[in-house]
Amino acid sequence: MKIDLGGRTAIVTGAAQGIGRQTAQHLVAAGATVALADLDPTRARAAAEPLGPTAFGLGVDVRSRASVDAMIATVADRCGGVDIMVTCAGILYPTRFDAITEGEWEQTFAVNVTGVFHCCQAAARSMTARGWGRIVNLSSTAGKSVSTLGGAHYTASKAAVLGLTRAAAKELAPFGITVNSVCPGLIDTEMARTNTTPERLDAYARSFPIQRLGRPEEVADLICFLASDHAAYLTGASFDINGGDLMI
Ligand code: NAD
Repeated sequence: MKIDLGGRTAIVTGAAQGIGRQTAQHLVAAGATVALADLDPTRARAAAEPLGPTAFGLGVDVRSRASVDAMIATVADRCGGVDIMVTCAGILYPTRFDAITEGEWEQTFAVNVTGVFHCCQAAARSMTARGWGRIVNLSSTAGKSVSTLGGAHYTASKAAVLGLTRAAAKELAPFGITVNSVCPGLIDTEMARTNTTPERLDAYARSFPIQRLGRPEEVADLICFLASDHAAYLTGASFDINGGDLMI
């Protein structure tokens, strides 16, 4: 099976690093033109640069509707529209339940839930006009169980992404748009490394049936499949990729 995204235009949010950056690289390799969008435009452009002429970086703050609309408009001007939206932008606070502040709670939901909503809705408008679309939202094992590293706000936000994905999938299917979630376990990125010690990461890794952390490229492979024509009959679903840490 060859994944061919030639002629497609994709936006990946949170693409300056981690899963988003790797996903952008795989989408480019599959033939898509890819906008790497991140809070820091300089880092987004730096991530796009080695990917060649079919990749470009731009700034976006997914918390802001105006910023997301501007991102979609920039991509539409440059490429004619949006076919694939991958919402990787996310934040995690490891704060324990009793110490969670209102500010942390609001920030977590602003990025992880409202940000995903902004991107899905704005992209879906462009996709509806084209009669084809693929939306892949980053949830987490946390969305189905409880986060290993994140606090209750992170777990709650990732559960919300699953509900948003299902509802959007149901309404957007008649327009040729599929909407799915990916639920990674512990993946070796900055997010994982900055929120615990190397020793604890090793201990978590050894506790999984497949005794290692996941790799960003493994998540990117799954996302590319969901973004392709091969996944035309999959929608409203959530796909676990966690080395067997959670089996449901
Ligand atoms: P990461 O922290 O390495 O990268 C996240 C990116 O999102 C960063 O480049 C950051 O600048 C960007 N970002 C943050 N706030 C933003 C905003 N308001 N607007 C635009 N961009 C913003 O994270 P990662 O590990 O690559 O994770 C990617 C996604 O996968 C996240 O949604 C995360 O919750 C989810 N996830 C990660 C893991 C893991 O173990 N790494 C596991 C499950 C789910």
